[in-house]
Amino acid sequence: MKEDVKKLAEKISEERGTDLDKVIKKIEEKEKEYNGLISMEGAAHIVAKEEGLELMDKGGNGSLEIKNVVSGMNSATITGKIENIYGPREFETDDGKGKVANLILRDQTGKIRFSLWNKEVEALIEEERIGIGDTIKIENGYVKEDNRGQPEIRLGRSGKVKEPEEELDVEIQSSESGSDGQGRVKIRDLVPGQNGEIRGTVVNIFSKKPFYKTCPECEERVEGDECEECGEVKINMALSVVVDDGSGSIRCVFFRDQAEKFLGIETDEAWEMTECGEKMEEFTGRCDEMLGDEIVVEGRVKMNDFFGMPELLVNSMKDVDIKEEIQKKLETV
Ligand SMILES: [Zn+2]
Repeated sequence: MKEDVKKLAEKISEERGTDLDKVIKKIEEKEKEYNGLISMEGAAHIVAKEEGLELMDKGGNGSLEIKNVVSGMNSATITGKIENIYGPREFETDDGKGKVANLILRDQTGKIRFSLWNKEVEALIEEERIGIGDTIKIENGYVKEDNRGQPEIRLGRSGKVKEPEEELDVEIQSSESGSDGQGRVKIRDLVPGQNGEIRGTVVNIFSKKPFYKTCPECEERVEGDECEECGEVKINMALSVVVDDGSGSIRCVFFRDQAEKFLGIETDEAWEMTECGEKMEEFTGRCDEMLGDEIVVEGRVKMNDFFGMPELLVNSMKDVDIKEEIQKKLETV
């Protein structure tokens, strides 16, 4: 057992008057319960919390190390440096309008997403109280699981953002390079509402039904042979492509020009090749040739409500420029 875990166990044992063996057993069970998602140290912290103890971390600032933060914690205190801010972005639901901004916080042990909502966005981001590069301390935040199964910290009713007792000495990985200051992003870090560029490998292509019809006059979707109003029809191509960059994967949707660029084939050509969408073998083969290729695409992340997953609507596909790639690598080293 690691020295710091042992120290934590001893502290719990002392404070609670429980046998050390029993405390250790509890910690081990807790670690198993989380299926290897947390370290022993993280498990010790959870046990301490359950026993009503506040344990100070060696990390200073009285904070949990980020690697030990797990979903389900309801009064987590962490200190992190703001690596990136995505948003704010406005959205609308049945209950009215709202605002959200997602921050990436980093300490020496890892990073976590910090989600701000409505008034929190106004008070902290729009009033410019916090920005990229600032170290902040979150007290009594709660941790929930995000849509990728990762822990995400939120303020809720009792959470507060404070100045830390000391700045964190941690290198943040700036992803600045695009004109919107967001540039190349890891797929894992993409959040709905964000524009970003990703580079990854094509791991799957959905090529069964790549065509859809619209009216060139009124631009409505056409279900039959032609638009009932205008009597016109236009064939369009769209492709769903799963791209993986090692941090995660995302479904990228290529519409029209982008689908043509991706496949290197014009829509008319594809339509003829498939005998009006009837014979898909050759087309599918063409798509499958793209499997394993590296691509760079830029687009907007949107929540696909049907799948309950974020997807990237591709605005542009870039050729992988080796020189530029090497330059980017050098910049992040
Ligand atoms: Zn029409």
